[in-house]
Order: sequence, then structure tokens, then C-alpha cells
Amino acid sequence: MTITTRFAPSPTGHLHIGNIRTALHNWMWAKKTGGRFILRIDDTDAERSREEYVDGIRADLAWLGLTPDAEYRQSERAALYDAAFNKLREAGRVYACYETSQELDLKRKIALGRGLPPVYDRAALALTDAERADLEAQGIKPHWRFKLDHAEPIAWDDLIRGAQKFDAASLSDPVIRRAEGSWLYMLPSAIDDVDMQITHVVRGEDHVSNTAVQLQMFTALGSTPPAFAHEALLVGAEGKLSKRLGSLGVGELREKHILPQAIVALLARLGTSDPVEPLHDRAALLDSFDFARFGRAPARFAEEDLERINRQLVHTADFASVADQLPPQVDEAAWHAIRPNIAHLGEVADYWQVIEGPIDAPAPEAEDAAFLAEARAALEPLAFGATVWKDWTEVLKASTGRKGKGLFLPLRRALTGMDHGPDMGELLPLIGRERALERLGG
Ligand code: GLU
Repeated sequence: MTITTRFAPSPTGHLHIGNIRTALHNWMWAKKTGGRFILRIDDTDAERSREEYVDGIRADLAWLGLTPDAEYRQSERAALYDAAFNKLREAGRVYACYETSQELDLKRKIALGRGLPPVYDRAALALTDAERADLEAQGIKPHWRFKLDHAEPIAWDDLIRGAQKFDAASLSDPVIRRAEGSWLYMLPSAIDDVDMQITHVVRGEDHVSNTAVQLQMFTALGSTPPAFAHEALLVGAEGKLSKRLGSLGVGELREKHILPQAIVALLARLGTSDPVEPLHDRAALLDSFDFARFGRAPARFAEEDLERINRQLVHTADFASVADQLPPQVDEAAWHAIRPNIAHLGEVADYWQVIEGPIDAPAPEAEDAAFLAEARAALEPLAFGATVWKDWTEVLKASTGRKGKGLFLPLRRALTGMDHGPDMGELLPLIGRERALERLGG
């Protein structure tokens, strides 16, 4: 049996960090087990679905390196849903309802007022053929509900939450299809999970009660349900579901020059018993990935953690892994000089500016003017190899008696225009003889 997972976003907005986490875990489980990862676009809601969001979802997954092995769109699968619907209807598992939403609201309010759970009372099941014909003659088109079997126990062993149990009688028969024929999420999803031979459904715990209902759908469709893993939701650092998390997506993180590896390294481990580590290598993340390591408490997402992981990854990134994101003139030596000084790749250009110039150096302090003239003269005859900084400063130390800050800072200021920055030993050969002499007042 090939392990098959699916990520099933509705294209009604951009992916946010919580969706990305779900996508990642589905991808990881498939890749760890040599299985398949499917992207299923849940676009049955024609009014709210947008093509730009479909494109955005694809682009975000590609940028994160979560390439699907196949892609499906629910809007192209209506024939399959119709066929299953007709079968379920013949088997008495789907029935027509005529209540308006106002009537349903009222029923709910009355039930709550009496201290009863607001479960649909199945009034439509009691309609006679004549009553139904009468309603339809008035032009009222039915919507459709799936009939839960109250005698069938609902239970599953959730890979994260452990044993789960529901009483079907405590649940409303879900509306699965609107009067004008469009589908709600619940049934098409179960039909697709069967058709695509999904073995593991990995999603947020906000879907737990949907799973209870969908388990009966799988059985009614004559199929064995997949395994389920319901993840505790992501919350902000302050421990609440925040608006910020609901909007934070790949677009903004990309603009901030956060590396996809940083997002992957953090979200792979957040909410698990494993420490979050700045791992470049996805194989190491896959090795430790296991639903048993996920806790039931909400996972806390802090943007500072993402920044920290990003910084650590930047400091250790190989030239080859970032070359395509660097200004074209930055070679391996320049990357190594710049790397330890930055938190984001976006800062590379600033550092490159220091090498290439022009720089905006402050006028030297009066007491440094003679020293800088001497430094320039001492640099002129030196070979501009890898040790030029060391060779030069040793000569100057001996000839001027300066040391420490008094020796290094005026040189750094004159050569870079800054008090801090990349290691001068690495920087000076990159600045090169001509520019260095010019900056020293030539
Ligand atoms: N389209 C559903 C959602 O975005 C999919 C849920 C599922 O994974 O089944 O919530």
C-alpha cells in the first residue's frame, strides 16, 4: 500500500502559516514513507474561489519545495460526486430538506432555549410524498442532507489525539448539497479521499467533528476510512489564535527575505517533542517526523523564532544553495565574508555595496590622518593575497605602535565607512588594491 496524503486548501484566500504547516506535514509524511503527496484544490464554492488564489497556492508550495505528485480540482469532478450522491440517495443515506435558513435558525434557538443541543430534528424525513410534491409545486427546491446512522458507533484511533468517540445522535445530519446543486465541503472530500486512495488525512483539529461525520460517509460509500491525524492548532506567542497568524503568508515572509528552509525547519518541529533546529537538510527533518511526537497543546508560533532560525541558516548556508538569490557579482569568497554578518539575504546587497563602493566614509579624526597616510604607504607594496590584512596590520603595528581598536577602527572606517561589519581579513582582498588605496586617500 502506497502511503498517500493530500493537502486540500480552498482557494478563497492566500495560504497562511497554519495552512503551510498542514501542507508541510502532509508532504513530510508522504516523503518519509516513499509515498505520494497530492494537492487537491477544494474549489466547489464557485462564488468564493478565485483563480489567483489557486495560482498563489501552487507558487507558495513550489517556493517551499513541497512539490505535489499530482493535482486535482474538485470543480472538475462533479460527475463523480453526482454518481456517488445518486447511489447514497437510492440507499436512503441522502434526503431532501425544504427548511429555509430562517426556519433552521429558529429551530436552533428553540432547542438552545430548552437547554437541548441544537441538533437538526430530521423533520424533513417525516414529510409524506404528497407534502414534498406540494412544496415543490410552490417552487421550493430542496437542499440535501446526509443521514447519519445513529446505531453505528463512531470511533477512531487518531494518530495524534488517540482514541476518539462520537455519538451519531448528538450530531446534525450534515447538509451536503445546496438547493441550486452546488456542493458543501463534507461529501466531495470523502468521495475524493476514497477515489484518490488517501491513506492518511492530516489536518487541523478544527476538523475533528467533520471526521466523525465523514467516517460514516466512508462506510456508506463502501470504503474503509483512511487514518486520521488531527493537529493542535497554531497559536501566537501570546497563546491565542491571532489575526496576525491568519494573514501571515509566504508573500510577506519572502519580502522579508526569510528562507524557505527556515519556515520548513521551524514548522516541521513546532508542537512536537523535538527541538527546533536550523537544519538545511530535509532528510534529517523527515527522519524525526512522527505523529506520535506531536503534543495536544496548541503549538506556539513566534516570528522571533523564525527570524532566529533564518539567521542561523544564513550563517551556515553554502554558496551553491543561495547563489541564485545573491547579486550576480557576489562570488563564493564574498559570500563567506558577508554571511556571518547578516540576518537576511536581503542585506547582502548592502554589504556588496561596501566592497564595490562608492562608500560614504566619514572624514578621518584629526589624530588618525597621519596614521592613515602611513597605512596607505604601507599597503601599496603588499601583495593582495588572502593574508593581506594580517600582513598589513602587522607592519603597521610594528611601525606605529598602535594596537587593538586604535589600529583597526580607523582602517575599517576608511575602507568601509562603517564601525562594524564583515571580517576585514576577508573583506580587504575583495575590496582590492585599487579601491583600498583610493579609500585611504589616494
Ligand atoms: N478544504 C478544506 C479546508 O480547507 C479541507 C479540509 C481537509 O483537509 O479535509 O478546510
